[in-house]
Amino acid sequence: MEVHKVEVVSKKQLTSKIYELNVRLVNSSNLEFKAGQCVGFHVLPETDGPDLQTKEKRLYSLTSLPEHGNELSFCVDVTPMGPGSQLVLDAKVGTQFNLEGPYGGFIVSDKTRDLLFLATGAGIAPFRSMIKDLLKSGFDKKITLLFGLRNEDDIFYHDEFSKLSEEYSNFTFIPMLSQPKGDWKGETGRITKYIEENSSKFTGYLAYICGSPEMIKDTRSLLISKGWGVRDIKIEIFH
Ligand SMILES: Cc1cc2nc3c(=O)[nH]c(=O)nc-3n(C[C@H](O)[C@H](O)[C@H](O)COP(=O)(O)OP(=O)(O)OC[C@H]3O[C@@H](n4cnc5c(N)ncnc54)[C@H](O)[C@@H]3O)c2cc1C
Repeated sequence: MEVHKVEVVSKKQLTSKIYELNVRLVNSSNLEFKAGQCVGFHVLPETDGPDLQTKEKRLYSLTSLPEHGNELSFCVDVTPMGPGSQLVLDAKVGTQFNLEGPYGGFIVSDKTRDLLFLATGAGIAPFRSMIKDLLKSGFDKKITLLFGLRNEDDIFYHDEFSKLSEEYSNFTFIPMLSQPKGDWKGETGRITKYIEENSSKFTGYLAYICGSPEMIKDTRSLLISKGWGVRDIKIEIFH
């Protein structure tokens, strides 16, 4: 697997625990990847050993578009507070580190179906790349994104997806708060509640789920109970 040295171009705190990290490739010109794939950040200092497997890495999905293979973006939840989170917290403009990849088959290969994307928290990361890539490339089937967060303080990417939904008539963005604190006008509850009440609207949709192991387990079981076939559900577990 190819290793790329990257340099931090900018970092933005999106919520109390979510950071956007933008890096550029230092030596190689481009990272070839498909929307939805991830890379491994090397989180321990490099040793001279030739065996890459001995290096610790943490996986992060690319949130940027494949057409921008030199400038990569990530959305990182630092809650785990392990070395991956620490790397992001410590990163400053100019900080260099290595990453390897791309990895993963969490991509949209069947472009003939309507798509339902279900994410909580940082699980939105691969969907940002996938949805933008699909819309920009003229995908003409329907896309619905259900994005679940706890309360108003956790909201991020809201304006961006709202704008996309205004721009593209085939894209519907449904943000949900499970415990709104204020005068939230949108959907409330967990995304499973929304599916429970609205699954018939998504008959025939291919479903993509990304988030914590528990969220994926619950959402996947619910979809299956509502008639989805196992092959009609793609999952990416953030663990
Ligand atoms: C394919 C793939 C893609 C991923 N993409 C992203 C991404 O785009 N953005 C992102 O933020 N994460 C992503 N993750 C998850 C991320 O790789 C892990 O959360 C990673 O373990 C964080 O590394 P760390 O060094 O900070 O913590 P670690 O040292 O790995 O973990 C520290 C401790 O925290 C626990 N822990 C792990 N995750 C959580 C959590 N969410 N909340 C609380 N405790 C936790 C662990 O069990 C461990 O005990 C992805 C995971 C996979 C498998």
